[in-house]
Amino acid sequence: MVNTKQRTGKVAGVNGNMVVVEFEGRVMQNEVAYVIVGAERLKSEVIRVRGKRAEMQVFEDTSGIKIGDHVEFTDELLSVELGPGLLGQVFDGLQNPLPRLAEKHGFFLKRGAYLDPIDDHTTWDFTPTVKAGGKVRAGDQLGTVPEKMFAHWIMVPFALSGELEVCTIAAEGKYALIDKIAQLKDGAGKTYDVSMTQTWPVKVPIKAYVKKIRPTEPLVTKIRLIDTLVPVAVGGTFCTPGPFGAGKTVLQHLLSRHTEVDVVVVAACGERAGEVVELLEEFPRLTDPRTKRSLMERTIIICNTSSMPVAARESSVYTGVTLAEYYRQMGLNVLLLADSTSRWAQAMREMSGRLEEIPGEEAFPAYLESRIAAFYERAGLVKLRNGKTGSVTIGGAVSPAGGNFEEPVTQATLKVVGAFHGLSRARADARRYPSVDPLDSWSKYTSFIEAERVRKGIAILKKSFSVNQMMKVVGEEGTSTSEFVDYLKGEFFDAVYLQQNAFDKTDESTTADRQKYVYALIEEIIDKPFEFKDKDDARKFFQELSQMFITWNSVPFRTDEFSKSEKQIRDKILSGAISK
Ligand code: ADP
Ligand code: MG
Repeated sequence: MVNTKQRTGKVAGVNGNMVVVEFEGRVMQNEVAYVIVGAERLKSEVIRVRGKRAEMQVFEDTSGIKIGDHVEFTDELLSVELGPGLLGQVFDGLQNPLPRLAEKHGFFLKRGAYLDPIDDHTTWDFTPTVKAGGKVRAGDQLGTVPEKMFAHWIMVPFALSGELEVCTIAAEGKYALIDKIAQLKDGAGKTYDVSMTQTWPVKVPIKAYVKKIRPTEPLVTKIRLIDTLVPVAVGGTFCTPGPFGAGKTVLQHLLSRHTEVDVVVVAACGERAGEVVELLEEFPRLTDPRTKRSLMERTIIICNTSSMPVAARESSVYTGVTLAEYYRQMGLNVLLLADSTSRWAQAMREMSGRLEEIPGEEAFPAYLESRIAAFYERAGLVKLRNGKTGSVTIGGAVSPAGGNFEEPVTQATLKVVGAFHGLSRARADARRYPSVDPLDSWSKYTSFIEAERVRKGIAILKKSFSVNQMMKVVGEEGTSTSEFVDYLKGEFFDAVYLQQNAFDKTDESTTADRQKYVYALIEEIIDKPFEFKDKDDARKFFQELSQMFITWNSVPFRTDEFSKSEKQIRDKILSGAISK
């Protein structure tokens, strides 16, 4: 897309991060433009065109912009660059690589500084997988290059349509990203030069697959409460609303480390200023438990802090999901985590206010729901043209003011996601982590543990909860021993299974096999009739049993020590059970 005639305009007004521009010629909705302020070029996006005036959101601090400042339109939608070299990188919402910027300008982006997301001159070992004369379509593999532990697909550009013929294809060898590796010809005889990189507009889903398949396979997050009670499916969606400080970010970090996927994309919109810095320091130091390599090698981090302009925060979720879709197209399973989508919604609200649109509930724009729905719809398990599948699973944190889930962002999200992991203030205050409320939360997906067995666990939690409520009124003496034992059983299940110690190397993640194994023993305990002298005796028994169990949780699965601890637990259970 070469501009034959540079289209320009002049700034006619500035309102916060919105700039009104008067232009000549034609301007496109969502087109990228630059406001020229002295030597700086400030990236912007056209969000509304009316007559000869365009309203643009500026992805930068707008101070210093004056009426009459020059504006250049690019004729391109806000896009990301796709190609090998994305994994392991840290980008801002506009796909500027942050570590490289950091070297040049300090930690975060200096206004108007933009860098290539991937280095055009780095060479990659290309191996062709098609032959000249072959027929291909958008998204098909033309060859591969090794990127970290994956064979990164070099694909037919997603923007090409119909069947294409491979005219030329590069021989095996080293090529730079911008070198031509193939020439393709469409049905009309038009030819296209293809390199190892392509750009794609972030607000348009990549759909170079055959079809979407309903997600049914459980995604193993290794968080017991989630996997067992409120599971997520591979290619599904979930949300994590919770009040400030309830544990959303810590939970997302755990998921990004332990979930069984190939690639993780973290879109961190940063609620607290230091949070993103912590994330960037923490990740490169962690090892991937599966590959024993740095976790960063299969992770891409998109980060913005709350100190950045709102528009830049809005773009980070789109940049994140586009990169996730790109790796899905290679037959990989990708997890996209967005923290927090409320920041993104606030950016929408702010721009909508500036545009003086008719406000909906709590001043959010009327299109809030459809934007949220469209974002989560980009998740999915897809069938590729070579018969393989790939997936994008999306998990979004939501941070409603005051922890009130009745607000528009939480409600709009709940309408579209497949699982709801609601964090509870009470659980967080009691330091019961993860603080996902096991009774309020729900999932439309199925666990790797059979539904009727899961229901048994939920039933004892409910029973325990209601006995606890009753005791608050009538006291412990107002309950029967059997009610009291049910209460203790529920508390036991919570303490030893639902709660997980994020600071214990073993307990912080539990494989599916171990969850199935341990849950079976929990079920036995829930089902077992126990006989106790009195309530104190019962309490003491469950306290001791819980302690033994918690110790067992720190012992690696299927080791001698694991069996030894299990034997002690089983002996303990027998000592409390009714002897016949
Ligand atoms: P949010 O993102 O919901 O505002 P955070 O995830 O930042 O909350 O958690 C706030 C604090 O709560 C953390 O700094 C930590 O001290 C504590 N916390 C949260 N989750 C856990 C956990 N799983 N284990 C231990 N402490 C936790
Ligand atoms: Mg947070």
